[in-house]
Amino acid sequence: MDNENLYIGCHVSMSGPEYYLGSVKEALSYEANTFMFYTGAPQNTIRLPLERLRIDEGRALIKQSGLDESKIVVHAPYIINIANQLNVDTYELGKKHLLSELKRTYAFGPKILVLHPGSHVGTGEENGLESIVKALDEVLDQDGTDVKIALETMAGKGSEMGTSFEQLKQIISSIKHPERVGVCLDTCHINDNNMDVANFDEVLSNFDKVIGLDKLLVVHVNDSKNPLGAHKDRHENIGYGYLGFETLNKVVHHPLLKGIPMILETPYYEGNPPYKKEIEMFRKQVFEDWR
Ligand code: FE
Ligand code: FE
Ligand code: ZN
Repeated sequence: MDNENLYIGCHVSMSGPEYYLGSVKEALSYEANTFMFYTGAPQNTIRLPLERLRIDEGRALIKQSGLDESKIVVHAPYIINIANQLNVDTYELGKKHLLSELKRTYAFGPKILVLHPGSHVGTGEENGLESIVKALDEVLDQDGTDVKIALETMAGKGSEMGTSFEQLKQIISSIKHPERVGVCLDTCHINDNNMDVANFDEVLSNFDKVIGLDKLLVVHVNDSKNPLGAHKDRHENIGYGYLGFETLNKVVHHPLLKGIPMILETPYYEGNPPYKKEIEMFRKQVFEDWR
């Protein structure tokens, strides 16, 4: 069993009174060696000032526990939508919050910020791409950090952008700072978007051909409640969905993905987090029916 260079964790909360210190403790309680968090609520942009978030204590615990801070991931709030300029206020607000999230990520220490590319809401794919490129150019000109944005592969609900490798490639090759942008591959989303994760070698070789494997910054490891091509985006616990444990285990342990943070975003089961069990299954490479 080769778990060298395996960085596996899950999304954790960040709430009072311990805030970031609590996030790190939560990750450690699952025996994770990385994690993902939101710098506030995922669904809004209300953000507490950094001074209140116990960042220094969290970072001290990260160091003391031997975690590699560069493998820790931040997720931007999902209400940011820079893929259309239909509502100028929403677009401007999206850019403002993206800029602020880059700076906040930098202040916490991680170097990767996951971002949903957004929805074009009927303005069309071309328009969507143009809007995203314009916004990324403006924001990355101003932020002054070395944090990378990982554009997430989306499930293709409604008019979501980021549904094909070609689209993501087009964004990355059109922006002024391509070195600052990569991709977050979500196994549930690509399944729902008609990519066959069971043939993961093929998916990866296609990713490499179109975007380049060096651009893969994070993997979201989720099973899916829905079959190939469903465009639904409903995550399932590992081994209980359409992808299954063996397929996802191959993703987690893929030799070409060594060192890339693997983040679980699977649902709580009967009120309890599944992460300790799911992380253990991937380390042992054995499925255990725990539900
Ligand atoms: Fe996401
Ligand atoms: Fe995801
Ligand atoms: Zn999702």
